[in-house]
Amino acid sequence: MKKEYLKGLIAAILIIALTVGLTAMGKYPSATNAVPMPAGAGSASEGTGSSGTGSGEGAADASGEYLPGTYTNEAVGFGGPVKVAVTVGESGGVTNVEITGDSETPDVGGKAIPKLAEQILTAQSAEIDGVSGASVTTQAVKDAASKVFMSASGQEVVEIPKPEGDNLFVPGTYSGSAKGFGGDIDVTVTVSENKIEDIQIDGSHETENIGSFAVDMLGDKIMEAQSPNVDAITGATVSSNGILRALNSALVLAGADLTRFNVEEEAAGEKIMAYKDLDCDIVIIGAGGAGMTAAINATQAGKKVILLEKMPYAGGNTTKATGGMNAAETHYQAEQDIEDSVEQFVEDTMKGGHDMNDRDLVTIMAENSASAIDWLDSIGAPLPKVSFSGGATNKRIHAPEDGSGVGAFLVTRFLNKIDELGIEVMYNTTATKLMTLDGKVTGVMAEGPDAYYTINAKAVILATGGFGNNQSMIVHYREDLLGTVTTSAPGVTGDGIVMAEAVGADLVDINQIQLHPTVEQATSMLITESVRGDGAILVNQEGKRFINELLTRDVVSAGELEQTGSYAYIIFDQNLRDGLKAVEKYVSTGITVQADTIEGLAEQLGIDPAALADTLQKWNQYVADKNDPDFGRDTGMDADLSKAPYYAIKIAPGIHHTMGGVKINTEAQVIDTEGSPIPGLFAAGEVCGGVHGGNRIGGNAVADIVVFGRIASDSAVKYCDGE
Ligand code: ADP
Repeated sequence: MKKEYLKGLIAAILIIALTVGLTAMGKYPSATNAVPMPAGAGSASEGTGSSGTGSGEGAADASGEYLPGTYTNEAVGFGGPVKVAVTVGESGGVTNVEITGDSETPDVGGKAIPKLAEQILTAQSAEIDGVSGASVTTQAVKDAASKVFMSASGQEVVEIPKPEGDNLFVPGTYSGSAKGFGGDIDVTVTVSENKIEDIQIDGSHETENIGSFAVDMLGDKIMEAQSPNVDAITGATVSSNGILRALNSALVLAGADLTRFNVEEEAAGEKIMAYKDLDCDIVIIGAGGAGMTAAINATQAGKKVILLEKMPYAGGNTTKATGGMNAAETHYQAEQDIEDSVEQFVEDTMKGGHDMNDRDLVTIMAENSASAIDWLDSIGAPLPKVSFSGGATNKRIHAPEDGSGVGAFLVTRFLNKIDELGIEVMYNTTATKLMTLDGKVTGVMAEGPDAYYTINAKAVILATGGFGNNQSMIVHYREDLLGTVTTSAPGVTGDGIVMAEAVGADLVDINQIQLHPTVEQATSMLITESVRGDGAILVNQEGKRFINELLTRDVVSAGELEQTGSYAYIIFDQNLRDGLKAVEKYVSTGITVQADTIEGLAEQLGIDPAALADTLQKWNQYVADKNDPDFGRDTGMDADLSKAPYYAIKIAPGIHHTMGGVKINTEAQVIDTEGSPIPGLFAAGEVCGGVHGGNRIGGNAVADIVVFGRIASDSAVKYCDGE
């Protein structure tokens, strides 16, 4: 962690520590703790970085009114201090809010400041929604405003205890909280005079298998370093920083001077890397869905497998899959009297892919989908819930029983099986090169944290995923996508494609990249299709609809790019929020704007209120008539948008899936530019091209990874056995 970061953090933390989110544990060491106290119950003191002043006197009355006067405070924003001044009138209500933050980015925080002032004035408190896209400024304003309102309520803050002598802490148990990716993260830390004895992190709102890894891993790192000065977990920085902020809050309460942990990194001597040789039957690159499927399957067939994963955790894009897995003629369909056929699955996939798909690969995927579902049953990953999904003629998408996201569910179950089978997974280890001898692939070179590896293997399976998170590769193939945000996981950078090309592999459909139309741009958070499916509409900055919102992803994305500013707002109401669990995450992440009236919502979005009200009125009539004369929408019209409060999320297209990649045949052998299989090299999942053609339909990514993960490992096993 760098010095500037820590400096800012300390100031921010002190304010947070002094104002919000700190639970009195009943174990504070003395009566002089940083908890809000009623006026007169302790001596007030200002923490570093805060400049609270108030002219009110006496306690606020029970109705919660404030004490007349002007109160100011500040917190650290994106570029520097953000000051909040609140004036309370004689009646006890807030009459004026002024916020200054000259160091905030003019286009982001700068623009948000007047809106935030208005929100505080309307809410008459610091409990505001904030402005999406300006989360740091929002947080600073909320922090400063919380303290302002504490002062205005007659509350004071008592002194933080000082450790004895040179001690680091005042022994005890302390807690702090801060915002993570999905909601608040609570950290409880127990300290003795000079040691962090225990740390408990509650980050139950963090994304399963992404932020939750940070929750699991960072505690150990902190204990080992005996310091909050540790690096964030790669790929889970928002959760990590939330944990570290919460920890710092708690440590401040323990009397810690955080600068004492800010030791300069030791003059980094040359890091000595070891060179190691390893041997196995099959080395699999990438521990996403395809790689883990292949690893389990090959191990079950008796092969010694090494699974390489460059991130500190498994899952890749697979973790993010929400819908389910398409499969036809499964026992679950039969048990639920659902008629479907392999042929129809093939036709639906070809149509969805604009007939650009490799029909042989699609047929193999469809034919093997039911047995893949059986295999998932057999390894403890059943997907029994069958329903409709976009582009499928019949009910075909299979999901976990409890409605959880299919990706996170499968990753967890795969990891359990991997543990059970004792498969060697090398995390933080990046495959860098395929080794060849006489035209055959004979292993992989890789780089881990402390060693370079030469991994000799009889066969190699590429399961490195797509290249959605490699901007230069995206732009190389699709210049028009320069600057487009991505929903892809951090490790999904096309390494497998580059390594395969280097040994002569052919590529197919490499410029076919799917945009998802509803991606919040500041967080790259994907707003699930279900929001539109349940009735949301899209409007432009003029407050008008511009498309049938439920056309295919590519068409809706293209429609958005034609609007003013190349973005749109997705609009929904309380009724929709009540019925769709996913919305809670959007609200808790702070990306929604909400208001009690359509006009109020429009004002916050800078849209003409009359125009938005007119659009909603028309839309609700179309829903009543089950007829959309403007754009011919005929699905997702079961409920109108008429129950306040109303919500909006600003969205634009984001890169979602790279359909193209390495060419494979139906045995998942990688094919070279001459049309022949490359001996010893197999591939499965998003690293491959051909299965999805020009557009992937929902449910086929998971079908792809499980079916071809198994085929690739079956083929590799046979190859190892000399067949
Ligand atoms: P798929 O859906 O095809 O299984 P995922 O995106 O789920 O693909 O998983 C791909 C995994 O491969 C990710 O976890 C990613 O971090 C990992 N990966 C990518 N490149 C490398 C590499 N060079 N070495 C090791 N792991 C890699």
